Amino acid sequence: MPAQLPADLDQSHDPARTSWVASANGHADFPIQNLPLGIFSPPGGAPRAGVAIGDEILDLPAALAAGLFAGDAEEAAQAANGSDLNALFALGRGPRQALRRRLSEILSADSPDRSKAEGLLQAAATVALHRPARIGDYTDFYVGIHHATHVGKLFRPDNPLLPNYKHVPIGYHGRASSIVASGVPVRRPKGQIMPPGATAPVFGPSQRLDYELELGVWIGTGNDLGEPVPVGSAGDHVAGFCLLNDWSARDIQAWEYQPLGPFLAKNFASSISPWVITPEALAPFRMAQPPRPAGDPAPLPYLTDAGDAAAGAFDIELEVLISTEGLKDKGLPPHRLALSNTRHMYWTVAQMIAHHTSGGCNLQPGDLLGSGTISGPTRGASGSILETTDGGREPIRLASGEERRFLADGDEVIFTARARRGGFASIGFGSCRATILPAR
Ligand code: CA
Repeated sequence: MPAQLPADLDQSHDPARTSWVASANGHADFPIQNLPLGIFSPPGGAPRAGVAIGDEILDLPAALAAGLFAGDAEEAAQAANGSDLNALFALGRGPRQALRRRLSEILSADSPDRSKAEGLLQAAATVALHRPARIGDYTDFYVGIHHATHVGKLFRPDNPLLPNYKHVPIGYHGRASSIVASGVPVRRPKGQIMPPGATAPVFGPSQRLDYELELGVWIGTGNDLGEPVPVGSAGDHVAGFCLLNDWSARDIQAWEYQPLGPFLAKNFASSISPWVITPEALAPFRMAQPPRPAGDPAPLPYLTDAGDAAAGAFDIELEVLISTEGLKDKGLPPHRLALSNTRHMYWTVAQMIAHHTSGGCNLQPGDLLGSGTISGPTRGASGSILETTDGGREPIRLASGEERRFLADGDEVIFTARARRGGFASIGFGSCRATILPAR
């Protein structure tokens, strides 16, 4: 760890810290430096809060009952003593940080609490993972500028980026009821489609089913109706992050999207990774917002903050994999469709929140924001299959001999994320995955 610690780093970030949970040490996603929160059901048990540590989950209510917490950490653990994390999210940063520091102590290799905590672990492989919060509202942004440009080209070849894009963090209000946890299968939607060359639409299964690689943002403390959140303090309203797959039916979208934007092309399902990666865990992986290209307009003052420009972006590698029935039958590993990074976001999370609330809209604990599809500039970094196959024109060839222009029934789409930086332990998000079921 660098000698001079930024203010938001502490001993819980020390890369030398190891855990008595052996599988945590060197774990790709959940070393002791991560400590993400989630809701799980042990075999035969009711949903409850837990903390991922290596291949295990620490049962948070059981740790509370064992007397392992005091002060702010106890307040946080008590708030998490139900079947969702909304009350913990509402407490904000202080108690969440206290809980993290205490969990780091309890789980560290030299902890005097080891004997008390050892019996409170569940093997992650044996549990069910759920949505971590009751999602009141879900908003999807469009801050991946390479995606906006690539898709804009497909829909409007001579006018890819609309004139508002570099001024407004574009978004729309999505549907919370159909957001499902990773692992829940997703059924191919039916809808109204205008076939190429036809003069009247048909109703049937989408033939152009796609994924969208997004960063999900969990809202912690909310804001009162009519009280905008300033961009400089917007980070205080973030409880954590997840991976989000905003499944999209491109043929339904192309017909329905004008003039009001996405509707049934998006509302049939969105998948989220179940672990809430806290802002504290991601603190080492913050970076300056990449400078805007020469000629781009400066953001308006309500979207401008020096601290946000200096450290409001994230360096998180995002990966998309596909596993098909053909690959599985032949015992072949999943095929990598893309490797992207959150640094390709044109607007920061704080700018998204400041804009969302700038007219007075109130955010509430457990609300979920999607970043929009995060593509890099190259085809190998595309966050949707629409971009990878150039609108279905260039098929993806798999080692099984199969080809894909869009997703087929039985395909499993898997997102992963990894944050790494010299001098720190790298952490991951766990996976966000789902298999496509045939239309019904
Ligand atoms: Ca989206």
